[in-house]
Amino acid sequence: ATVAAQIAAGEVIERPASVVRELVENALDAGARRIVVEARGGGLREIRVQDDGCGIPADEVELAFARHATSKLSTADDLWSIATLGFRGEALPSIAAVAQVICVTRAAGADVGVELRIAGGEVQAIMPRGCSPGTTISVRNLFYNTPVRRDFLRSDAAESAAITSVVTQYALAYPEVRFSLVIDGRATLQTSGNGDLRAATIEIYGLDVARQLLAIDAAVGEGVDLVQVRGLVSPPGLTRSSRAAIHLFINRRAIQPRGQIAIVLEEAYHTLLMKGRHPMAILNITVHPAAVDVNVHPTKSEVKFRNTTQVMSVLGRAVRTALLESGV
Ligand code: ADP
Ligand code: MG
Repeated sequence: ATVAAQIAAGEVIERPASVVRELVENALDAGARRIVVEARGGGLREIRVQDDGCGIPADEVELAFARHATSKLSTADDLWSIATLGFRGEALPSIAAVAQVICVTRAAGADVGVELRIAGGEVQAIMPRGCSPGTTISVRNLFYNTPVRRDFLRSDAAESAAITSVVTQYALAYPEVRFSLVIDGRATLQTSGNGDLRAATIEIYGLDVARQLLAIDAAVGEGVDLVQVRGLVSPPGLTRSSRAAIHLFINRRAIQPRGQIAIVLEEAYHTLLMKGRHPMAILNITVHPAAVDVNVHPTKSEVKFRNTTQVMSVLGRAVRTALLESGV
């Protein structure tokens, strides 16, 4: 790969968990109902993401690994109305620039699949291959050609934990998708994909915690003005010492539990939270795609609303109502 390609890759792919995030997002964009994520050696030895989505047509596989080749965006205007998770066409080329990748895919309707092998940005082989519909991407020896980046990573256990946290986020954001996570051969997470958020939450936090969570379902406005808040929050008695159990999604895209959204959420508890304690929350905020800008950072974990005040007021009110109705 060229130096430029490696630098660009570094912006999107900081660590193994970034690979998992990008591959899972692609699987979700492809309409997958079942996603299996496997990681070995902290994700450095191998990350494998298998989906049953729409697949990639054989004659488009090479293109999918070319820079800025996205099938999801047609005009610059679309940047304000993105409905898919991906849109930059950067992930696959960035991953392939810094790893050895094998992509096996079969498009819906095609009677045979294709296998593409690409390493360090160079296509090694492309051949027809029998496989089930959908896509499996295996990423081996991540950062093998950028040893400096590899040196900056933390322990395998820490990288595996970051991978688990990415899969957890998406399993909670997409309860209708069946997720499996296998770390070093051990099944660590499995959701049913039955569409029920509380069911997915049981898999992750256990029945005892999940059944105490309060349901939230509020909406105001319509069309471009729509703000809808749905999900689960903890009663004030069920708090944590960090914000790790706050999962926030905008249009089902995970964002960091910090900044104004986190403050508004926690302020809704008013005096109910002890100092240094944080609620648990799994909340998806739905707004019109044109009312949110997800194009702030390449890793897409931050967003800007067109009407921040309105979003914050709906969120605060929804949480306060749930707390009030629960009688606390
Ligand atoms: P983006 O997601 O921003 O479009 P990517 O580099 O992540 O860019 O992917 C490039 C293209 O490859 C996508 O636009 C899509 O057409 C195709 N693609 C990638 N992963 C999958 C998948 N799991 N299933 C179907 N198509 C995929
Ligand atoms: Mg993508």
